[in-house]
Amino acid sequence: MNKNHVLGIDVGASGIKGAVVDIATGAFAGLRHRIPMPDSKDATDVAESIEEIRQHFRWTGAIGIGFPSVVKNGVVHTASNIANSWIGVDAGKLFGEHTNQPVFVLNDADAAGIAEMSFGYGRDHQGTVLMLTIGTGIGSALFHKGILVPNTEFGHVYMFHGRVAEHYCADSAKKRERLSWQEWATRFNTYLQMMDFYLRPDLFLLSGGTSKNFDSYSNFFDPDILVKTKPGLLLNNAGIVGAAMYAHQQLSD
Ligand code: BGC
Repeated sequence: MNKNHVLGIDVGASGIKGAVVDIATGAFAGLRHRIPMPDSKDATDVAESIEEIRQHFRWTGAIGIGFPSVVKNGVVHTASNIANSWIGVDAGKLFGEHTNQPVFVLNDADAAGIAEMSFGYGRDHQGTVLMLTIGTGIGSALFHKGILVPNTEFGHVYMFHGRVAEHYCADSAKKRERLSWQEWATRFNTYLQMMDFYLRPDLFLLSGGTSKNFDSYSNFFDPDILVKTKPGLLLNNAGIVGAAMYAHQQLSD
């Protein structure tokens, strides 16, 4: 077995996807495998899906898993796009028991951020970088001098009239309200201006499925925001790559 290979898994609101990652290059060592999120979205069913992915790759060894909630020492603390019954579950332990392998769980956006800081525009950046994932929700990963401040959850800040940012300008809001790129980008620009006011990042990275559409919307951003905003380069794979890198780091610590 190649010692640079680690199984990375990204648990999303609609699907669970995994790939064996070469953590030295950030590339997949083979094809990605995706299975739909079980309807219940609950712990037992998701754990079975994780084991199904492991079996698909006949994987033995470390597994890194990005999960869409605040995760501290493997324990799930919040549930915005998953079942409430997850709160308090030790996901690291649960997935470890189901797979019989060493499993390391972290927030999905933090995982994507780790990958973009190694293989994307964040590479070697010494300032403050805020990476935002735009999907069903908005995830955030904040770095300074390459060091992650985990579990920031900036997708949940309040915007107008108490409206939560991810309800106002995630990709799901664009779809739900049938917003044009311009309408959506105008909303997202306001959100970026707010984050800029609070955190003064030197660089914004926009990751997730919409990063491939960066050119369709970024021109609607204000020039002072646009000048410091770049798309994620790993597209939808960042979460898988970063989860694998995290597991590798944890095993070596
Ligand atoms: C969750 C975050 C997650 C983000 C992206 C949000 O709803 O609260 O933990 O990182 O969605 O999946």
